[in-house]
Amino acid sequence: MNSSLKIYNTLSRKKVLFEPLHAPHVGIYVCGPTVYSDVHLGNCRTFTTFDVVVRYLRYLGYQVRYLRNITDVGHLVDDVDEGEDKIAKRAKLENLEPMEIVQRYTVGFHKVMQQLNNLPPSIEPTATGHISEQITLIEQILARGYAYVANGSVYFDVPAYLKNYPYGELSGRVVEDLLSSTRDLDGQNDKKHPADFALWKLANSAHIMRWPSPWGEGFPGWHIECSAMSTKYLGQVFDIHGGGMDLQFPHHECEIAQARGAHEHAPVRYWMHANMLTMNGQKMSKSLGNSILPKELFLGSHPLLSQPFSPMTLRFAFLQTHYRSTMDLSADALKAAQIGYKKLMNGLRIAKRLTEPQSYHAPNDKLIAELLKTCERVLAGLDDDFNTAVALAALFDLAKKLSQFEAGQLSLADLDAASYARLKTTYIDITEKVLGLVEEQPKTEGLVSVLLSDYAAAKSEKNFERVDALRAIAKSMGLAFKDMKTGITWTYDEA
Ligand code: AMP
Ligand code: ZN
Repeated sequence: MNSSLKIYNTLSRKKVLFEPLHAPHVGIYVCGPTVYSDVHLGNCRTFTTFDVVVRYLRYLGYQVRYLRNITDVGHLVDDVDEGEDKIAKRAKLENLEPMEIVQRYTVGFHKVMQQLNNLPPSIEPTATGHISEQITLIEQILARGYAYVANGSVYFDVPAYLKNYPYGELSGRVVEDLLSSTRDLDGQNDKKHPADFALWKLANSAHIMRWPSPWGEGFPGWHIECSAMSTKYLGQVFDIHGGGMDLQFPHHECEIAQARGAHEHAPVRYWMHANMLTMNGQKMSKSLGNSILPKELFLGSHPLLSQPFSPMTLRFAFLQTHYRSTMDLSADALKAAQIGYKKLMNGLRIAKRLTEPQSYHAPNDKLIAELLKTCERVLAGLDDDFNTAVALAALFDLAKKLSQFEAGQLSLADLDAASYARLKTTYIDITEKVLGLVEEQPKTEGLVSVLLSDYAAAKSEKNFERVDALRAIAKSMGLAFKDMKTGITWTYDEA
Protein backbone atom coordinates (compact mmCIF):
# COMPACT_ATOMS: atom_id res chain seq x y z
CA MET A 1 0.00 0.00 0.00
CA ASN A 2 1.34 3.38 -1.01
CA SER A 3 0.34 6.42 0.94
CA SER A 4 1.96 9.75 1.59
CA LEU A 5 0.74 9.98 5.15
CA LYS A 6 3.23 11.57 7.52
CA ILE A 7 2.97 11.24 11.27
CA TYR A 8 4.76 13.26 13.91
CA ASN A 9 6.50 10.69 16.05
CA THR A 10 6.88 11.98 19.61
CA LEU A 11 9.82 9.65 20.15
CA SER A 12 11.95 10.84 17.23
CA ARG A 13 10.47 14.35 17.47
CA LYS A 14 9.89 14.63 13.76
CA LYS A 15 7.34 13.96 11.06
CA VAL A 16 8.00 10.69 9.29
CA LEU A 17 6.38 8.74 6.49
CA PHE A 18 3.95 6.19 7.85
CA GLU A 19 5.13 2.70 6.96
CA PRO A 20 3.23 0.07 8.90
CA LEU A 21 4.95 -3.15 9.88
CA HIS A 22 2.49 -5.49 8.20
CA ALA A 23 0.58 -3.42 5.63
CA PRO A 24 -2.30 -3.44 4.88
CA HIS A 25 -2.77 -4.30 8.57
CA VAL A 26 -2.28 -1.54 11.12
CA GLY A 27 -2.34 -1.93 14.88
CA ILE A 28 -3.15 1.06 17.06
CA TYR A 29 -3.45 1.24 20.82
CA VAL A 30 -4.96 4.25 22.59
CA CYS A 31 -4.92 4.60 26.35
CA GLY A 32 -8.56 4.72 27.43
CA PRO A 33 -10.21 6.24 30.46
CA THR A 34 -9.90 5.29 34.09
CA VAL A 35 -13.54 4.64 34.81
CA TYR A 36 -13.98 6.16 38.25
CA SER A 37 -15.76 9.32 37.07
CA ASP A 38 -17.38 10.88 34.00
CA VAL A 39 -15.04 11.76 31.15
CA HIS A 40 -14.63 15.51 30.70
CA LEU A 41 -14.26 17.53 27.51
CA GLY A 42 -10.45 17.24 27.65
CA ASN A 43 -10.63 13.45 27.58
CA CYS A 44 -13.16 13.71 24.74
CA ARG A 45 -10.76 15.80 22.67
CA THR A 46 -8.06 13.15 22.87
CA PHE A 47 -10.42 10.28 22.04
CA THR A 48 -11.84 12.24 19.09
CA THR A 49 -8.31 12.88 17.79
CA PHE A 50 -7.60 9.16 17.64
CA ASP A 51 -11.03 8.42 16.20
CA VAL A 52 -10.07 10.55 13.19
CA VAL A 53 -6.67 8.83 12.99
CA VAL A 54 -8.41 5.44 12.79
CA ARG A 55 -11.03 6.69 10.34
CA TYR A 56 -8.41 8.19 8.01
CA LEU A 57 -6.24 5.07 8.07
CA ARG A 58 -9.32 3.04 7.10
CA TYR A 59 -10.17 5.56 4.39
CA LEU A 60 -6.66 5.05 2.98
CA GLY A 61 -7.44 1.35 2.77
CA TYR A 62 -5.62 0.01 5.82
CA GLN A 63 -7.19 -2.75 7.86
CA VAL A 64 -6.98 -1.26 11.30
CA ARG A 65 -7.15 -3.16 14.57
CA TYR A 66 -7.99 -0.41 17.01
CA LEU A 67 -7.55 -1.04 20.72
CA ARG A 68 -8.71 1.34 23.40
CA ASN A 69 -8.55 -0.03 26.90
CA ILE A 70 -10.61 0.57 29.99
CA THR A 71 -8.56 1.09 33.14
CA ASP A 72 -10.61 -0.52 35.88
CA VAL A 73 -7.90 -1.17 38.45
CA GLY A 74 -4.41 -0.08 39.43
CA HIS A 75 -4.51 3.66 38.74
CA LEU A 76 -3.74 5.16 42.13
CA VAL A 77 -4.74 8.65 43.20
CA ASP A 78 -2.12 11.27 42.30
CA ASP A 79 -0.67 8.93 39.65
CA VAL A 80 1.97 7.62 42.03
CA ASP A 81 2.81 4.20 43.40
CA GLU A 82 1.34 4.69 46.86
CA GLY A 83 -2.14 5.50 48.08
CA GLU A 84 -5.60 4.38 47.15
CA ASP A 85 -6.91 3.02 43.87
CA LYS A 86 -9.11 5.66 42.21
CA ILE A 87 -11.93 3.19 41.62
CA ALA A 88 -11.79 1.55 45.05
CA LYS A 89 -11.80 4.99 46.68
CA ARG A 90 -14.93 5.98 44.79
CA ALA A 91 -16.59 2.65 45.59
CA LYS A 92 -15.93 3.11 49.29
CA LEU A 93 -17.34 6.64 49.23
CA GLU A 94 -20.53 5.47 47.58
CA ASN A 95 -20.72 2.18 49.44
CA LEU A 96 -20.75 0.25 46.18
CA GLU A 97 -18.79 -2.62 44.67
CA PRO A 98 -15.83 -1.33 42.62
CA MET A 99 -17.32 -3.09 39.58
CA GLU A 100 -20.53 -1.09 40.01
CA ILE A 101 -18.46 2.07 39.67
CA VAL A 102 -16.66 0.60 36.66
CA GLN A 103 -19.94 -0.38 35.00
CA ARG A 104 -21.59 2.99 35.58
CA TYR A 105 -18.76 5.05 34.14
CA THR A 106 -18.03 2.65 31.30
CA VAL A 107 -21.66 2.93 30.17
CA GLY A 108 -21.49 6.74 30.50
CA PHE A 109 -18.23 6.84 28.54
CA HIS A 110 -19.71 4.78 25.71
CA LYS A 111 -22.73 7.05 25.53
CA VAL A 112 -20.55 10.15 25.16
CA MET A 113 -18.37 8.47 22.54
CA GLN A 114 -21.53 7.63 20.59
CA GLN A 115 -22.88 11.18 20.89
CA LEU A 116 -19.59 12.47 19.48
CA ASN A 117 -19.77 9.87 16.70
CA ASN A 118 -16.52 8.24 17.80
CA LEU A 119 -16.34 4.69 16.45
CA PRO A 120 -16.13 1.84 18.94
CA PRO A 121 -12.68 0.25 19.07
CA SER A 122 -12.13 -3.20 17.54
CA ILE A 123 -11.21 -4.46 21.01
CA GLU A 124 -11.82 -2.70 24.31
CA PRO A 125 -9.85 -4.74 26.84
CA THR A 126 -10.07 -4.16 30.57
CA ALA A 127 -7.20 -4.33 33.04
CA THR A 128 -9.10 -6.66 35.37
CA GLY A 129 -9.80 -9.01 32.46
CA HIS A 130 -6.06 -9.39 31.83
CA ILE A 131 -4.52 -10.01 35.24
CA SER A 132 -2.86 -13.26 34.19
CA GLU A 133 -1.26 -11.63 31.12
CA GLN A 134 0.09 -8.87 33.36
CA ILE A 135 1.53 -11.41 35.81
CA THR A 136 3.20 -13.28 32.93
CA LEU A 137 4.77 -10.07 31.65
CA ILE A 138 6.06 -9.19 35.11
CA GLU A 139 7.59 -12.67 35.39
CA GLN A 140 9.40 -12.08 32.07
CA ILE A 141 10.78 -8.75 33.30
CA LEU A 142 11.90 -10.40 36.56
CA ALA A 143 13.55 -13.25 34.67
CA ARG A 144 15.58 -10.79 32.59
CA GLY A 145 16.78 -9.01 35.71
CA TYR A 146 14.97 -5.70 35.29
CA ALA A 147 12.69 -5.99 38.31
CA TYR A 148 12.86 -7.13 41.92
CA VAL A 149 10.45 -8.41 44.55
CA ALA A 150 10.19 -6.55 47.83
CA ASN A 151 7.73 -7.59 50.55
CA GLY A 152 5.16 -9.00 48.13
CA SER A 153 5.42 -6.11 45.66
CA VAL A 154 7.39 -6.07 42.41
CA TYR A 155 9.23 -2.98 41.22
CA PHE A 156 10.84 -2.15 37.92
CA ASP A 157 14.54 -1.67 38.46
CA VAL A 158 15.37 1.57 36.62
CA PRO A 159 19.14 1.58 37.44
CA ALA A 160 19.48 -2.03 36.16
CA TYR A 161 17.56 -1.12 33.00
CA LEU A 162 19.70 1.98 32.46
CA LYS A 163 22.79 -0.18 32.14
CA ASN A 164 21.45 -1.51 28.83
CA TYR A 165 18.81 0.91 27.61
CA PRO A 166 18.07 4.61 27.72
CA TYR A 167 15.25 5.69 30.02
CA GLY A 168 13.48 9.01 29.47
CA GLU A 169 13.78 9.03 25.66
CA LEU A 170 10.12 9.74 25.06
CA SER A 171 9.52 12.46 27.60
CA GLY A 172 13.01 13.91 27.29
CA ARG A 173 13.56 13.58 31.03
CA VAL A 174 16.92 12.55 32.35
CA VAL A 175 17.18 10.26 35.31
CA GLU A 176 18.77 12.91 37.52
CA ASP A 177 15.62 15.02 37.04
CA LEU A 178 13.51 12.01 37.77
CA LEU A 179 15.30 11.50 41.02
CA SER A 180 14.54 14.98 42.20
CA SER A 181 10.98 15.07 40.85
CA THR A 182 9.81 11.57 41.77
CA ARG A 183 7.52 11.86 44.70
CA ASP A 184 8.04 9.45 47.50
CA LEU A 185 4.88 10.11 49.42
CA ASP A 186 5.72 8.69 52.79
CA GLY A 187 9.31 7.57 52.30
CA GLN A 188 8.17 4.21 53.61
CA ASN A 189 7.88 2.17 50.45
CA ASP A 190 10.02 -0.75 49.41
CA LYS A 191 11.66 0.77 46.34
CA LYS A 192 15.42 0.46 46.10
CA HIS A 193 15.56 3.63 44.03
CA PRO A 194 13.10 6.53 43.88
CA ALA A 195 12.85 6.28 40.06
CA ASP A 196 11.73 2.62 40.24
CA PHE A 197 8.04 2.06 39.64
CA ALA A 198 5.52 -0.56 40.71
CA LEU A 199 4.66 -3.51 38.49
CA TRP A 200 2.70 -5.31 41.19
CA LYS A 201 1.64 -4.09 44.61
CA LEU A 202 0.96 -6.14 47.70
CA ALA A 203 -2.60 -5.45 48.87
CA ASN A 204 -2.90 -4.43 52.48
CA SER A 205 -5.90 -5.71 54.43
CA ALA A 206 -8.02 -2.64 53.56
CA HIS A 207 -7.44 -2.96 49.82
CA ILE A 208 -10.56 -4.39 48.22
CA MET A 209 -9.42 -5.03 44.63
CA ARG A 210 -6.95 -7.94 44.86
CA TRP A 211 -5.81 -11.05 43.01
CA PRO A 212 -3.54 -13.98 43.85
CA SER A 213 -0.07 -13.84 42.30
CA PRO A 214 3.31 -15.59 42.72
CA TRP A 215 4.23 -12.74 45.10
CA GLY A 216 1.10 -12.82 47.27
CA GLU A 217 -2.33 -11.18 47.00
CA GLY A 218 -2.13 -7.85 45.28
CA PHE A 219 -2.98 -5.75 42.27
CA PRO A 220 -1.17 -4.56 39.13
CA GLY A 221 0.66 -1.26 38.80
CA TRP A 222 -0.96 1.24 36.45
CA HIS A 223 1.50 0.98 33.53
CA ILE A 224 1.69 -2.78 33.13
CA GLU A 225 -1.88 -3.23 31.82
CA CYS A 226 -1.21 -1.34 28.58
CA SER A 227 1.99 -3.29 27.93
CA ALA A 228 0.25 -6.61 28.56
CA MET A 229 -2.85 -5.88 26.50
CA SER A 230 -1.08 -4.25 23.55
CA THR A 231 1.33 -7.21 23.36
CA LYS A 232 -1.51 -9.70 23.54
CA TYR A 233 -3.60 -8.19 20.74
CA LEU A 234 -1.09 -6.29 18.59
CA GLY A 235 2.19 -8.09 19.18
CA GLN A 236 5.48 -7.17 20.84
CA VAL A 237 6.06 -4.44 18.27
CA PHE A 238 3.12 -2.57 16.81
CA ASP A 239 2.47 0.53 14.73
CA ILE A 240 0.82 3.37 16.63
CA HIS A 241 0.39 4.12 20.32
CA GLY A 242 -1.64 7.16 21.29
CA GLY A 243 -2.82 9.12 24.28
CA GLY A 244 -2.82 12.61 25.70
CA MET A 245 0.49 14.45 26.18
CA ASP A 246 0.16 14.13 29.93
CA LEU A 247 0.68 10.37 29.54
CA GLN A 248 4.18 10.69 28.05
CA PHE A 249 5.58 10.54 31.52
CA PRO A 250 5.42 8.40 33.50
CA HIS A 251 2.89 6.14 31.78
CA HIS A 252 4.31 5.74 28.28
CA GLU A 253 7.93 6.00 29.34
CA CYS A 254 7.25 3.10 31.70
CA GLU A 255 5.52 1.13 28.94
CA ILE A 256 8.63 1.36 26.78
CA ALA A 257 10.81 0.22 29.68
CA GLN A 258 8.47 -2.67 30.52
CA ALA A 259 8.40 -3.92 26.93
CA ARG A 260 12.16 -3.73 26.50
CA GLY A 261 12.61 -5.19 29.94
CA ALA A 262 10.42 -8.15 28.99
CA HIS A 263 11.48 -8.85 25.43
CA GLU A 264 14.19 -6.46 24.28
CA HIS A 265 12.23 -4.65 21.57
CA ALA A 266 11.02 -1.05 21.61
CA PRO A 267 7.28 -1.72 21.41
CA VAL A 268 5.93 1.15 19.32
CA ARG A 269 6.90 2.46 15.90
CA TYR A 270 4.92 5.73 16.02
CA TRP A 271 4.13 7.42 19.32
CA MET A 272 1.37 10.00 18.96
CA HIS A 273 0.38 12.46 21.66
CA ALA A 274 -2.60 14.78 21.61
CA ASN A 275 -2.21 18.18 23.19
CA MET A 276 -4.39 19.38 26.02
CA LEU A 277 -7.75 21.07 26.06
CA THR A 278 -7.35 24.09 28.29
CA MET A 279 -9.65 26.57 30.00
CA ASN A 280 -8.17 30.04 30.40
CA GLY A 281 -4.82 28.56 29.54
CA GLN A 282 -4.92 25.88 32.20
CA LYS A 283 -5.21 22.15 31.43
CA MET A 284 -8.77 20.90 31.88
CA SER A 285 -8.61 18.35 34.64
CA LYS A 286 -10.86 16.90 37.24
CA SER A 287 -8.31 17.43 39.98
CA LEU A 288 -7.85 21.11 39.10
CA GLY A 289 -11.63 21.55 39.34
CA ASN A 290 -11.96 23.25 35.95
CA SER A 291 -13.49 20.40 34.01
CA ILE A 292 -16.68 20.62 32.00
CA LEU A 293 -18.66 17.46 31.33
CA PRO A 294 -20.07 16.73 27.87
CA LYS A 295 -23.62 16.66 29.21
CA GLU A 296 -23.13 20.11 30.78
CA LEU A 297 -22.12 21.41 27.36
CA PHE A 298 -24.92 19.64 25.50
CA LEU A 299 -27.54 20.94 27.97
CA GLY A 300 -25.94 24.34 28.46
CA SER A 301 -26.09 23.76 32.20
CA HIS A 302 -22.52 24.75 33.09
CA PRO A 303 -22.23 28.19 34.77
CA LEU A 304 -19.66 29.32 32.19
CA LEU A 305 -22.00 28.65 29.28
CA SER A 306 -24.99 30.78 28.39
CA GLN A 307 -26.31 28.32 25.80
CA PRO A 308 -26.09 24.64 24.91
CA PHE A 309 -23.77 23.38 22.17
CA SER A 310 -24.44 20.15 20.32
CA PRO A 311 -22.11 17.14 20.14
CA MET A 312 -21.32 17.84 16.48
CA THR A 313 -20.49 21.47 17.26
CA LEU A 314 -18.04 20.21 19.87
CA ARG A 315 -16.55 17.70 17.45
CA PHE A 316 -16.18 20.42 14.82
CA ALA A 317 -14.50 22.68 17.40
CA PHE A 318 -12.00 19.93 18.25
CA LEU A 319 -11.16 19.32 14.61
CA GLN A 320 -10.62 22.99 13.86
CA THR A 321 -7.45 22.85 15.92
CA HIS A 322 -4.60 20.54 14.99
CA TYR A 323 -4.26 17.82 17.61
CA ARG A 324 -0.71 18.80 18.57
CA SER A 325 -1.71 22.34 19.49
CA THR A 326 -3.40 23.22 22.72
CA MET A 327 -7.01 24.23 22.35
CA ASP A 328 -8.51 26.78 24.70
CA LEU A 329 -12.22 26.28 25.22
CA SER A 330 -14.37 29.39 25.28
CA ALA A 331 -17.98 30.30 24.53
CA ASP A 332 -16.75 32.40 21.58
CA ALA A 333 -14.79 29.51 20.09
CA LEU A 334 -17.86 27.28 20.44
CA LYS A 335 -20.12 29.87 18.81
CA ALA A 336 -17.73 30.14 15.88
CA ALA A 337 -17.65 26.34 15.65
CA GLN A 338 -21.45 26.25 15.60
CA ILE A 339 -21.50 28.50 12.53
CA GLY A 340 -18.67 26.58 10.88
CA TYR A 341 -20.42 23.28 11.45
CA LYS A 342 -23.63 24.59 9.87
CA LYS A 343 -21.71 25.86 6.83
CA LEU A 344 -20.10 22.47 6.40
CA MET A 345 -23.48 20.74 6.68
CA ASN A 346 -25.06 23.11 4.15
CA GLY A 347 -22.33 22.03 1.76
CA LEU A 348 -23.02 18.40 2.60
CA ARG A 349 -26.72 18.74 1.85
CA ILE A 350 -25.92 20.29 -1.53
CA ALA A 351 -23.29 17.67 -2.34
CA LYS A 352 -25.79 14.92 -1.60
CA ARG A 353 -28.52 16.32 -3.78
CA LEU A 354 -26.29 17.19 -6.75
CA THR A 355 -27.23 15.14 -9.77
CA GLU A 356 -24.82 14.42 -12.54
CA PRO A 357 -25.57 16.40 -15.72
CA GLN A 358 -27.11 14.41 -18.59
CA SER A 359 -24.21 15.54 -20.75
CA TYR A 360 -21.12 17.73 -20.40
CA HIS A 361 -20.03 20.73 -22.51
CA ALA A 362 -16.43 21.26 -23.50
CA PRO A 363 -14.64 20.99 -20.14
CA ASN A 364 -13.70 24.21 -18.39
CA ASP A 365 -10.11 23.25 -17.64
CA LYS A 366 -9.47 26.15 -15.30
CA LEU A 367 -12.49 25.35 -13.16
CA ILE A 368 -11.69 21.64 -13.14
CA ALA A 369 -8.07 22.28 -12.17
CA GLU A 370 -9.17 24.57 -9.36
CA LEU A 371 -11.64 22.01 -8.01
CA LEU A 372 -9.18 19.14 -8.18
CA LYS A 373 -6.52 21.20 -6.46
CA THR A 374 -8.92 21.98 -3.64
CA CYS A 375 -9.81 18.28 -3.29
CA GLU A 376 -6.08 17.54 -3.10
CA ARG A 377 -5.68 20.15 -0.36
CA VAL A 378 -8.22 18.28 1.73
CA LEU A 379 -6.19 15.08 1.51
CA ALA A 380 -2.84 16.83 1.77
CA GLY A 381 -4.01 18.31 5.08
CA LEU A 382 -4.90 14.90 6.44
CA ASP A 383 -1.68 13.39 5.09
CA ASP A 384 0.26 16.06 6.96
CA ASP A 385 0.01 14.51 10.40
CA PHE A 386 -3.80 14.49 10.36
CA ASN A 387 -4.13 18.25 10.02
CA THR A 388 -7.92 18.41 10.24
CA ALA A 389 -7.83 22.23 10.41
CA VAL A 390 -6.29 22.40 6.94
CA ALA A 391 -8.72 19.78 5.62
CA LEU A 392 -11.68 21.77 6.97
CA ALA A 393 -10.44 25.01 5.38
CA ALA A 394 -10.24 23.26 1.98
CA LEU A 395 -13.70 21.72 2.50
CA PHE A 396 -15.07 25.22 3.09
CA ASP A 397 -13.65 26.26 -0.28
CA LEU A 398 -15.40 23.28 -1.84
CA ALA A 399 -18.63 24.23 -0.02
CA LYS A 400 -18.47 27.68 -1.62
CA LYS A 401 -18.18 26.10 -5.04
CA LEU A 402 -21.03 23.70 -4.28
CA SER A 403 -23.35 26.56 -3.44
CA GLN A 404 -22.32 28.35 -6.64
CA PHE A 405 -23.21 25.24 -8.62
CA GLU A 406 -26.55 25.06 -6.87
CA ALA A 407 -27.28 28.75 -7.37
CA GLY A 408 -26.51 28.41 -11.08
CA GLN A 409 -23.48 30.74 -10.93
CA LEU A 410 -21.37 27.80 -12.05
CA SER A 411 -22.48 24.90 -14.20
CA LEU A 412 -21.80 21.25 -13.50
CA ALA A 413 -21.93 20.67 -17.25
CA ASP A 414 -18.57 22.54 -17.47
CA LEU A 415 -16.92 19.68 -15.55
CA ASP A 416 -16.29 16.14 -16.73
CA ALA A 417 -17.49 12.88 -15.22
CA ALA A 418 -14.28 12.29 -13.27
CA SER A 419 -14.05 15.73 -11.70
CA TYR A 420 -17.78 15.73 -10.90
CA ALA A 421 -17.37 12.42 -9.07
CA ARG A 422 -14.20 13.59 -7.30
CA LEU A 423 -15.89 16.75 -6.02
CA LYS A 424 -18.92 14.91 -4.72
CA THR A 425 -17.14 11.97 -3.10
CA THR A 426 -14.32 14.01 -1.58
CA TYR A 427 -16.76 16.34 0.12
CA ILE A 428 -19.13 13.66 1.36
CA ASP A 429 -16.61 10.98 2.32
CA ILE A 430 -14.11 13.21 4.08
CA THR A 431 -16.81 15.08 5.98
CA GLU A 432 -18.80 12.06 7.08
CA LYS A 433 -16.47 9.07 7.04
CA VAL A 434 -13.14 10.63 7.96
CA LEU A 435 -14.00 13.66 10.07
CA GLY A 436 -17.10 11.93 11.42
CA LEU A 437 -19.16 15.11 11.05
CA VAL A 438 -22.74 14.20 10.24
CA GLU A 439 -26.06 16.02 10.13
CA GLU A 440 -27.73 16.35 13.48
CA GLN A 441 -31.14 17.51 12.46
CA PRO A 442 -32.77 15.08 10.05
CA LYS A 443 -35.52 14.30 12.55
CA THR A 444 -37.16 17.64 11.72
CA GLU A 445 -37.26 16.93 7.96
CA GLY A 446 -40.98 16.09 7.88
CA LEU A 447 -42.01 19.19 9.78
CA VAL A 448 -39.67 21.37 7.75
CA SER A 449 -41.09 20.19 4.44
CA VAL A 450 -44.62 21.13 5.62
CA LEU A 451 -43.40 24.60 6.63
CA LEU A 452 -41.54 24.91 3.37
CA SER A 453 -44.59 24.22 1.20
CA ASP A 454 -46.58 26.65 3.35
CA TYR A 455 -43.82 29.19 2.75
CA ALA A 456 -43.90 28.60 -1.02
CA ALA A 457 -47.67 29.08 -1.03
CA ALA A 458 -47.43 32.30 1.03
CA LYS A 459 -44.81 33.63 -1.40
CA SER A 460 -46.90 32.96 -4.48
CA GLU A 461 -49.92 34.56 -2.76
CA LYS A 462 -47.65 37.51 -1.86
CA ASN A 463 -48.75 37.10 1.75
CA PHE A 464 -45.62 38.77 3.15
CA GLU A 465 -46.80 38.74 6.74
CA ARG A 466 -47.06 34.95 6.57
CA VAL A 467 -43.72 34.74 4.71
CA ASP A 468 -42.04 36.66 7.55
CA ALA A 469 -43.75 34.57 10.21
CA LEU A 470 -42.60 31.35 8.54
CA ARG A 471 -39.05 32.68 8.18
CA ALA A 472 -39.08 33.46 11.90
CA ILE A 473 -40.23 29.92 12.73
CA ALA A 474 -37.46 28.51 10.56
CA LYS A 475 -34.90 30.72 12.31
CA SER A 476 -36.08 29.57 15.72
CA MET A 477 -35.37 26.03 14.52
CA GLY A 478 -31.84 27.04 13.47
CA LEU A 479 -32.81 26.98 9.77
CA ALA A 480 -33.20 29.46 6.92
CA PHE A 481 -35.48 29.32 3.87
CA LYS A 482 -33.71 30.11 0.62
CA ASP A 483 -35.18 31.06 -2.74
CA MET A 484 -33.07 29.36 -5.37
CA LYS A 485 -33.45 29.34 -9.13
CA THR A 486 -34.35 25.69 -8.85
CA GLY A 487 -37.02 26.33 -6.22
CA ILE A 488 -37.33 26.95 -2.52
CA THR A 489 -35.14 25.04 -0.11
CA TRP A 490 -33.89 25.16 3.47
CA THR A 491 -30.37 25.41 4.84
CA TYR A 492 -28.86 25.58 8.31
CA ASP A 493 -28.95 29.20 9.45
CA GLU A 494 -25.34 30.36 9.48
CA ALA A 495 -26.04 33.61 11.33
P1 AMP B 1 -7.53 9.73 32.17
O1 AMP B 1 -8.83 9.01 32.35
O2 AMP B 1 -7.34 10.91 33.05
O3 AMP B 1 -6.34 8.80 32.15
O4 AMP B 1 -7.57 10.39 30.70
C1 AMP B 1 -7.99 9.73 29.55
C2 AMP B 1 -7.34 10.37 28.34
O5 AMP B 1 -7.64 11.78 28.27
C3 AMP B 1 -5.80 10.30 28.36
O6 AMP B 1 -5.33 10.02 27.05
C4 AMP B 1 -5.38 11.68 28.81
O7 AMP B 1 -4.10 12.01 28.33
C5 AMP B 1 -6.44 12.54 28.15
N1 AMP B 1 -6.64 13.85 28.79
C6 AMP B 1 -6.75 14.14 30.12
N2 AMP B 1 -6.93 15.47 30.32
C7 AMP B 1 -6.93 16.04 29.09
C8 AMP B 1 -7.08 17.39 28.60
N3 AMP B 1 -7.27 18.43 29.42
N4 AMP B 1 -7.04 17.60 27.27
C9 AMP B 1 -6.85 16.57 26.41
N5 AMP B 1 -6.72 15.27 26.79
C10 AMP B 1 -6.75 15.01 28.11
ZN1 ZN C 1 -2.06 3.25 28.84
